[in-house]
Amino acid sequence: MKVTFLGTGTSQGVPIIGSDHPVCLSKDPKDKRLRVSVLVEWDDYTYVIDCGPDFRYQMLRAECKRIDGVIFTHEHADHVAGLDDIRPFYFRQGDIPIYAHKRVLKSLIKKYDYIFATKNKYPGAPTVITNRVKNKPFQLKELEVIPVNGKHGDLQVFGYRFGDFAYLTDMKTVKDKEIEKIKNVKVLVVNALRYEPHYSHFNLDEALEFIKKVNPGKAYLTHISHLLGFHEEVEKTLPENVFLAHDELQITI
Ligand SMILES: [Zn+2]
Repeated sequence: MKVTFLGTGTSQGVPIIGSDHPVCLSKDPKDKRLRVSVLVEWDDYTYVIDCGPDFRYQMLRAECKRIDGVIFTHEHADHVAGLDDIRPFYFRQGDIPIYAHKRVLKSLIKKYDYIFATKNKYPGAPTVITNRVKNKPFQLKELEVIPVNGKHGDLQVFGYRFGDFAYLTDMKTVKDKEIEKIKNVKVLVVNALRYEPHYSHFNLDEALEFIKKVNPGKAYLTHISHLLGFHEEVEKTLPENVFLAHDELQITI
């Protein structure tokens, strides 16, 4: 399985428009973070988790030519705002499967009514095949995917386990019985926003504490704000099996 980090930034991305913060002005490419998303590939299959406002550029940058589906964690704009840009995939491949919680599907139908329209549909609009994700395993091709339920402030979010890889973003609280689903996984990706606490995201301390509970072989931090600091400096301070993800990083599991 190959995982490509398409984006590792928080909702505004890094740099923030108009910001003079030193991290926003950094020349290090690892300090440039698009909105959070990953590409997960195995055998001949390619799935993307979330498609935020940078989706089009991320697909171009990763030279991604086909996708087998989009899996959503939750409905916030930084995770869904690129949905219209599935059009090139739709034109080439036909209807694109999407996977999401019932509430997230409802939100997408509201935001993108023309994509879900069944009458008088605009010919340029893409069509999706909706798959409702409940908190129980589902199949993607031959692989069983296990949703991991958590809370992003008051909002329910899903993380996902694909074999030896688990991807959790926008988490603030995860119950022990959900943590059981990913214990000792080989590679864990989890969100770490900044040092200061935040009402709906793990800060660095909470992310490290969560990683200890999960006890993965390796962990990568994502959904990073400029306030966490320079990539190079922060990474030096992390435990030896924990890394900061950066855009375009690829890992093989
Ligand atoms: Zn987010």
